[in-house]
Amino acid sequence: MMSSMRISPAAVAVFLSLLAVAVGGCINSAGAWTITINGNPQYVIDRTVYDGFGYRLTINGTTGVPLEQFLYAEGLYPVTEVTIAGRSYDWNALANATTFELPLLVTADGRVFDGQGYLRAGNINVTVADRPAHTSLDIAPSMLYALGLGGDDTLIQGRSDRVVLFYVDAMGYERYEQAKSRGIINNITSLGAPEKLACMYPSVSIVNGKTLITGMPPDAGKGDYESHLPDGPTVLETAAQHGLIAYWIGGNTSPVDPGDFRISCPDRNENGYEADEVTTEAIRQYGSGADLLYVHYKDSDTIAHVYGPFSDEAMASLEYADIQIGRMLPCLDPGTIVIVYADHGGHKVPGGGNHGCLIPSDMIVPFIVHVI
Ligand SMILES: [Zn+2]
Repeated sequence: MMSSMRISPAAVAVFLSLLAVAVGGCINSAGAWTITINGNPQYVIDRTVYDGFGYRLTINGTTGVPLEQFLYAEGLYPVTEVTIAGRSYDWNALANATTFELPLLVTADGRVFDGQGYLRAGNINVTVADRPAHTSLDIAPSMLYALGLGGDDTLIQGRSDRVVLFYVDAMGYERYEQAKSRGIINNITSLGAPEKLACMYPSVSIVNGKTLITGMPPDAGKGDYESHLPDGPTVLETAAQHGLIAYWIGGNTSPVDPGDFRISCPDRNENGYEADEVTTEAIRQYGSGADLLYVHYKDSDTIAHVYGPFSDEAMASLEYADIQIGRMLPCLDPGTIVIVYADHGGHKVPGGGNHGCLIPSDMIVPFIVHVI
């Protein structure tokens, strides 16, 4: 039963600070702290929720769980602004100023560390942008459906014996829009308007490349973002079990290792792009009867890291991927389903570009479906 006695917040703060002194600073020993999000009792971070996240990050000597982990788990994204204890953080500006993960940590004693100091956070206010209806979890079942192997028709309504997915690394929706407005991805735009998808968090390839072929989410609580091995059966395996010929064709490195289905194509002509070698191999495999191809263009991510995702150099890498897609399209039989997809977007950081945050430019990606 609630006490009817009214206590002012200031009195509570004084009491808590005295308590902290009394127990030698270990205010977490009681384990009783609660942070609500947007004042909604449904969105609560407490010690139990905190301990459920295995991922820990240390920034400037302070260890905690990135606040973004909790916001993502609650479906509160893409994030544009967060206000904690009266202090507002422009999430995009913070991402632009940070090399990788945003420096907002929830610590084990229920405070928030912002990279510089501690904030007492009884409540956190989060402003989010529109979230797409579908996520990259919907791709794998849709691919199975398209091939007549089960799944569901969430993203792809048609069926075909042959499906080719072009995976343009890091071409998030904002980059797609900018490239489109520059008129440099006309082959891609000729395939129709994209649906926006939310990618998986953290918005990095190793997470989303796995989700792409398994339809399974990463384990955010486990924080296990290091393995390139898929977490479960892949669409490629299912296709092969049904007698289809399936390949993952990419460059020298791959965010996901699909085992025997993988064909690696390094930059043999040393023109700075692998996409041309990848496309030559994809055209060859399609001509030899492949039913399902994932065609991965990595250059558009690599170059975005060096120069920034909206730089002329990074835009040129999207143009180059588009040219390669344009080489392959005339080789495809009528009825082939073509998909253009990106695993994540990106944002500027000091000295280049990166991604991995809960901001719109990292989290929202295009998904285009076209029947030849
Ligand atoms: Zn990247």
